[in-house]
Amino acid sequence: MNEARVPQEPVTCARCGRTADTLPLTWTCSVENGRREYFCEECARENIRSIEGRLDSSWW
Ligand SMILES: [Zn+2]
Repeated sequence: MNEARVPQEPVTCARCGRTADTLPLTWTCSVENGRREYFCEECARENIRSIEGRLDSSWW
């Protein structure tokens, strides 16, 4: 009743495709090109590392 402001919708990790019925607290939301993208805990960690380090994508 008091959670009307929080949309309870399935989310999908933009990187690995993992899905969750509701957005887990460990997931990261970022806005890319005007649209929201979600990253699961593991992918957020890898994503941040690749962004900050400008690493090769060899870990794919
Ligand atoms: Zn993921």
